[in-house]
Amino acid sequence: MTLAEPEAKAAPKSAQAAEHFDVLIVGAGISGVGGAYHMTQQRPQDSFVVLEAKESFGGTWITHKYPGIRSDSDLYTFGYRFKPWTGTPIATAEEILTYMGEVIEENDLARHIRYGHEIVSASWSSADKLWTLQVLRKSDNAQLTFTTGFLWMCQGYYRHGQGYTPDWPGMSDFTGRIVHPQTWPEDLDYKGKRVIVIGSGATAATLAPNIAGDTEHVTLLQRSPTYFIPGRNANDLADTLRDLEIDEAWIHEIVRRRILKDQDAFTQRCLDEPETVTQELVGAAKLILGPDYDVAKHFTPSYRPWRQRIAFIPDGDLFMGIRSGKVSVETDEIERFTAGGILLKSGKELEADIIVTATGFDLAVLGDIDFTIDGAPLDFSKSVTYRGMMFTGVPNMVWVFGYFRASWTLRADLVADFVARLRDHMEKVGARQVEVALRPEDEGMELGPWIDPENFNPGYLMRGMHLLPQRGSKPEWQHTQDYWSERKEIPQIDLSGAEFRYS
Ligand SMILES: Cc1cc2nc3c(=O)[nH]c(=O)nc-3n(C[C@H](O)[C@H](O)[C@H](O)COP(=O)(O)OP(=O)(O)OC[C@H]3O[C@@H](n4cnc5c(N)ncnc54)[C@H](O)[C@@H]3O)c2cc1C
Repeated sequence: MTLAEPEAKAAPKSAQAAEHFDVLIVGAGISGVGGAYHMTQQRPQDSFVVLEAKESFGGTWITHKYPGIRSDSDLYTFGYRFKPWTGTPIATAEEILTYMGEVIEENDLARHIRYGHEIVSASWSSADKLWTLQVLRKSDNAQLTFTTGFLWMCQGYYRHGQGYTPDWPGMSDFTGRIVHPQTWPEDLDYKGKRVIVIGSGATAATLAPNIAGDTEHVTLLQRSPTYFIPGRNANDLADTLRDLEIDEAWIHEIVRRRILKDQDAFTQRCLDEPETVTQELVGAAKLILGPDYDVAKHFTPSYRPWRQRIAFIPDGDLFMGIRSGKVSVETDEIERFTAGGILLKSGKELEADIIVTATGFDLAVLGDIDFTIDGAPLDFSKSVTYRGMMFTGVPNMVWVFGYFRASWTLRADLVADFVARLRDHMEKVGARQVEVALRPEDEGMELGPWIDPENFNPGYLMRGMHLLPQRGSKPEWQHTQDYWSERKEIPQIDLSGAEFRYS
């Protein structure tokens, strides 16, 4: 563009000189902010930057703004291992953001994070051993170029812009408002209104009791039931230790260990004695809902416990909402939307002013970034994963994909240690490139989808599985989802093993 040319308003500004960082972290959610902390602690010699598309940190916890938004796992384990959690185990999004804000402030991380920077493309050059990223700076629509020797993908796993809504017949006939919790309108007035919440996961279970008090009535409409664990939003051990004036750092570590041990035992029981666990979970619902409530129909799933995430419902708020009469549950299928609500397959019609589709996420692989490797487009689904962190054919990149059955951040911390060790090792052997590759003994290894649907099968994964890398039959070629073995294995990984290729 010459100086004389007027600049088109929405057009990207001309490219500027590339900025280089040793490590580039994608995303400032809980994983990316954790990654930044670990860089300062474990690799202070590296330059690094965090690029975040949104205007602030938090990822999941700023995207979701629906009433009552909270964690469904405890913050002793969802919090970082290095920063004690001092609040109630289940936390609101606001509390999580405050905690993350403290991590940023206490560790002077803000200077490393650039907000409003959306990474559009990333291309790897084996000749230069560099990633080159095209980035849109939203404040002035400038197109920037960054280069980096190492990409640390902390972009999460779903599209933040909008959630997943199935295409039901007659949706356009409905005269009320249809909203998705992921894009909750600030102006949504549900006072005195009849609301249908479609869904059976943690979001639907959180939302329904939280808005019920203001509405005329909330109907939770689910195709099939889910397991919930009702319980007090408190941790007795933490409270006792606090009462004894034990140091918060100690409390954090002790309570984490207790929770993790209990979760391990629970997961094992779900595998060993699923019927007993089912009876216990269903029994807990029955206890609150009373003998006349049809728990068999509404709260007894057909799958065994832990095949989908089990949401903890603090103080049993969903069940209390049902007991109060403000919330009711329909377990049925949608025939079609009507002008006044939803017609069910059973023939029953539900009336509504507002319909909330708590129907989940859209899986986004690699942050919707256009990836090329030496000029060729990357087909991520063709690659095989090394422990759910690295991928064959994709050099100098690590992705943080957390756990389903344990808190995500446990893995974010473990992966951070791995990245630091890998960078140390590369430095030691004088390598600028690292790639994983199947070894001769892996020849002919059976490959399958990213996650075994027999093991874990939530809708967003089932819908997007074909986009994700493959897993092998050996544990090192899978994301095993097993924190309890990974916490020992990941720190022990032999970085000079034949699966790592350095150059
Ligand atoms: C409502 C809800 C509740 C949940 N509760 C729990 C829970 O209690 N416990 C648990 O373990 N897990 C929970 N999860 C799963 C949760 O997503 C993760 O635990 C965790 O927050 C993910 O963190 P993350 O930093 O890896 O990714 P995200 O939180 O998804 O953050 C990724 C960030 O990367 C940015 N980004 C993506 N692509 C680009 C790009 N191209 N350029 C620049 N920036 C980009 C995004 O803007 C975003 O800020 C929950 C998820 C949801 C949706």
